Amino acid sequence: METITKVALVTGANKGIGHEIARQLAGLGFRVFAAARDPERGEASAAKLREEGLDVRFVGLDVTKTASILAAARLVDEQAGRLDVLVNNAGMGILRTPPAVLTADDVRTVYETNVFGVIAVTQAMLPLLERSAAGRIVNLSSTLGSLEAASDPDRDTSSAAYATSVALAYSTSKTALNAVTVCFANQLRATRIKVNAACPGHVGTDLNGFAGKRTVGQGAREPVRLATFDADGPTGGFFDDAGPKPW
Ligand code: NAP
Repeated sequence: METITKVALVTGANKGIGHEIARQLAGLGFRVFAAARDPERGEASAAKLREEGLDVRFVGLDVTKTASILAAARLVDEQAGRLDVLVNNAGMGILRTPPAVLTADDVRTVYETNVFGVIAVTQAMLPLLERSAAGRIVNLSSTLGSLEAASDPDRDTSSAAYATSVALAYSTSKTALNAVTVCFANQLRATRIKVNAACPGHVGTDLNGFAGKRTVGQGAREPVRLATFDADGPTGGFFDDAGPKPW
C-alpha cells in the first residue's frame, strides 16, 4: 500500500462547516475522506476540493444507517489502512419549535443523527483510529448544549439566542453528545486517541437559514485545531476558539 502522511474522515462534508473542515485538513496535507449521504452532492463537493489540488475522496455515509457506516469504514480501510482523524460533523436541528409542542418522535429523529449516529460512526472507525500514531476524534457540539449556559438565571430571555436555547431536540442532543464525548475520552485515556467536542460558534449555514454571522472558515478553525494538536493536547474537553467552554 502507498504511504499516506495523514488520513481524516469528515461526516457531512458536502456543505457548510464540514466541507470547510475537509478543505482545511486537506490543506494541511491530509488525505480526506469527505463523507456525505447523497452520492451526487457528495461527489460534486469532493470534486471541487480536488480542483483546488487537494487529496479529497468522496465516501457515501449516512450516519443513521449501519450498513452505510460499515461500508464507509471498509472503504477507508481498503484505501488508506488507518484513520488519524475522525470529525463527527454531520448534524441536524429542529431549532424553533417550543418544547411544549415538539413531539417525542421529532426529538428521536434529531438524536438519531446528532447522538446515535456519532456513537455508531465512532465505534465503526475506532479499529482504524487505533492504528494511528496519534488518533483524534472531534465531535461538533454547540453552546446550546451547555447546561451551564442554558441555566444561567441572568440570560437575556428576549434574545434570538434564547429562542433557540429552548430548542428541546437540538440543545439536548448536543448536551448528550458532550456526555458521549467524555465517555469515549475516558475509555481511550490510556491510548494515543484523544476525543474532544468543538463549538464552531454561530456560523451562517443551511442549519440556521444562514442567520449565523461567522464564516465557515472561522467555524472550522477550532475543530481543525482539535484534530491536529500534538500528544500534549487535551482529551474529554469542550472548546471553542476562545478556549474551554462550560458544560
Ligand atoms: P449544514 O450546512 O446544514 O450541514 C450539515 C451536514 O450534515 C450536511 O452535510 C448534511 O447532509 C449532514 N447530515 C445531516 N444528516 C446526516 C445524516 N443522517 N448522515 C450524514 N450526513 C448528514 O450545517 P452546519 O452548520 O455546517 O453544521 C455542521 C455541524 O456543526 C452540525 O453538527 C451542527 O450541529 C454544528 N454546529 C453548527 C453551528 C452553526 O452555527 N452553523 C453552531 C454550533 C454547532 P445533507 O446535505 O445531505 O443534509
